[in-house]
Amino acid sequence: MNPRQYCVFGNPISQSRSPWIHQRFASQLDIEIDYQAKLAPEDGFADAFKAFVAAGGEGANVTAPFKEQAWQLCDRLSVTAKDSGAVNTLFLEGDKICGDNTDGFGLVADLHRQQVQLIDAKILLLGAGGAARGVIPALLNETPKSLTIANRTASKAHNLQNYFSDPRIHACGFDELLAGSFDVIINATSAGLARQRPDVNSSIIGTKTICYDMVYQAEPTGFLVWCHDHGAGQCIDGLGMLVGQAAKSFSIWFSAMPDIEPVIEELRRLLIQGK
Ligand code: NDP
Repeated sequence: MNPRQYCVFGNPISQSRSPWIHQRFASQLDIEIDYQAKLAPEDGFADAFKAFVAAGGEGANVTAPFKEQAWQLCDRLSVTAKDSGAVNTLFLEGDKICGDNTDGFGLVADLHRQQVQLIDAKILLLGAGGAARGVIPALLNETPKSLTIANRTASKAHNLQNYFSDPRIHACGFDELLAGSFDVIINATSAGLARQRPDVNSSIIGTKTICYDMVYQAEPTGFLVWCHDHGAGQCIDGLGMLVGQAAKSFSIWFSAMPDIEPVIEELRRLLIQGK
């Protein structure tokens, strides 16, 4: 039997670890898959996904900058995807394109893994793109005291606030983040991909603040180094989230949940070895 075909779409995409992670899950569960990383043109995501399906593809992950376009492409949406307005997991039911979002699951599962307290926490979410959207329902579900969304382009943070319409959500631009620290700060911007960091004031960091960067790499990310240098209590990168969201996608496609711990450990080792 031919392996079942899945892929991840993004732009850029060469950095993606998703093919490696899904092959690992497939080996664990004795499933044969062919999972590729595919570069889609910025204005051509829908056509790229349809061509993939026409060639036998059964589902896909979606990464920056296509999560909102994937949402629009879907005939059916899970409750999480509908709530968040962003899709990172596509699958087929007959001729219908279905979408889910597993980023929130991956993030919250990783924060729990790291014993981070979210109940009654003052959370700051930096960024208002597809990744930020995707995690908002899961974060609100953890009953924080407040969720502040701050973005370089302030209007996009306000758009998210209006979309979710929850009294715990506040929205602003980076320059409006005044003194006063947060319990948890989550960097959901793509600044790190360009070796930059969100230009926010260090007064947002207190000695007990837990800083999370959705980006991950061999060495601590620029954002996490900056947080550490300004006295953060704990710094965590997004590797656990990456593997967690992938595991949830895999379970949607194959109705079986892989074991994430050995995959996180192995991926961390490979990153440190520069592989
Ligand atoms: P999008 O392209 O949808 O959004 C990008 C966001 O980053 C926008 O809010 C944008 O602000 C902001 N941004 C970009 N450059 C800068 C900069 N130099 N300074 C400040 N803000 C900036 O991307 P996604 O939301 O899909 O992804 C965001 C990041 O999260 C990516 O790095 C991605 O790799 C990571 N991610 C990690 C996951 C994991 O499992 N670990 C899962 C999902 C995402 P503006 O609106 O002003 O342009």
